[in-house]
Amino acid sequence: MHGDIDRIVISQAQIAARIRELAQQITADHTPPAIPGDGQVTIIPILTGAMIFCADLMRCLPMRMKIGILAVSSYPGRSIKSQGAKFLASRIEEVRGRHIVLLDDIIDSGGTVRLVREMLQELEPASLKTCVLLKKNIAGAEQTPVDYVGFEIPDEFVVGYGLDYDDHYRNLPDIVTLKPHIIARTQSA
Ligand code: 5GP
Ligand code: MG
Repeated sequence: MHGDIDRIVISQAQIAARIRELAQQITADHTPPAIPGDGQVTIIPILTGAMIFCADLMRCLPMRMKIGILAVSSYPGRSIKSQGAKFLASRIEEVRGRHIVLLDDIIDSGGTVRLVREMLQELEPASLKTCVLLKKNIAGAEQTPVDYVGFEIPDEFVVGYGLDYDDHYRNLPDIVTLKPHIIARTQSA
């Protein structure tokens, strides 16, 4: 697996440091006086990609909170181009009247986050903020409101720290690119 890595884009130490900063911002916006009381926050990671990000981020958040679960698939299997978002499953309890923090691993076209935000808005949360670990700098990307961004990255396909290629590489601790022949081989297979 490690032999497939082309280069490290963001190291685990950089991720850990940035998550502490994001957690401070999120905490300031989700504790009194910003919101009236404790225990009204629900954090909702979009699975599977945001799973590791959520696990690390939520342990840096000191407030009382719940966790919701939601899964969509936009890069099925070996595709490296977004195929549009589709709900696979959703089990979101108590969105109505609660302060929601939606988490995703990466914003590319913005389609996934936009779709999920629209669906959550219909459930009438007290507030809805979006936090992504990575945001791709792509020309003509749909403008989707994102409140907290970990890192802006160039338009290249990355894996690791929850992000997959054909469901592999999620367990790499750094965010990396893959050697071109790894992707070329499976794209033509
Ligand atoms: P969007 O809907 O913004 O175009 O795509 C967002 C979703 O596509 C992310 O949640 C993620 O699952 C996937 N995605 C986008 N860019 C990448 C990438 O560079 N690497 C990986 N592994 N997944 C990506
Ligand atoms: Mg995802």
